Amino acid sequence: MSLSPLKRLFIPETDSPNGPDVLLIDGRRISVRYRANTQAKRIIMRMEKDGTGIILTVPPGTDEQAAYRFALGQTGWIWQRLVPENQQADPAILEGCSITIRDVEHVIETATGRGAPVHIRDLPSPRLLVRGDASHMRRRITDFLKREARHDLERASRGYADAMQLDFMRLSVRDTTTRWGSCSSTGTLSYSWRLIMAPPKVLDYVCAHEVAHIEQMNHGPEFWKLVNRHCPHTDFARKWLKRHGHMLHKLPV
Ligand SMILES: [Zn+2]
Repeated sequence: MSLSPLKRLFIPETDSPNGPDVLLIDGRRISVRYRANTQAKRIIMRMEKDGTGIILTVPPGTDEQAAYRFALGQTGWIWQRLVPENQQADPAILEGCSITIRDVEHVIETATGRGAPVHIRDLPSPRLLVRGDASHMRRRITDFLKREARHDLERASRGYADAMQLDFMRLSVRDTTTRWGSCSSTGTLSYSWRLIMAPPKVLDYVCAHEVAHIEQMNHGPEFWKLVNRHCPHTDFARKWLKRHGHMLHKLPV
């Protein structure tokens, strides 16, 4: 930490499909998040609350690449404000961190008193309230997100099965690392619960994709015709997953 940041090598991750989401400073991965703000007159950079990443607020019409280049020019500023790696907060305690649910950022807060262990509050700003001991926060949040995911995945899969006049046997929700969904030859649909953090259209598309596999166990033209006919946001969702999908594994839970 003592070397001048200017003497360090700053390498943007060119080989990553989602390059602009991470900034590499002296081998340390700094998360980069973007927020569009119609009030912003210029790009504004600030640190994440936990001191391990940056948030770029960008005026309308500014592309993320330009914002990323801006951040690249400010690595000295970032380096000075980063929390030293050995002083990062206990990963079990997530208070103050934020997590996206259905593409909306929710700040995690501890709640007291009686009530559901985890619940969402939208006003005055989206928050995820968690009761109980801080050491159980992570498990409580993941349990909650898995339940929410199952709800949305079941509804979307059921909708597509009806629309495509197909049927599935079972639906399972897991923490898969390589695939967002799969469909077995016996008609079991499996999904990653992390899809609950993505935009709803993305979760919806993954369901259309897997349900379509019940009829077409391949990725041939007939398969894509079926998916596209029933799911108009297929292109959007595929691009989103390619570009941002890996971020769903980097969120604090
Ligand atoms: Zn497939």
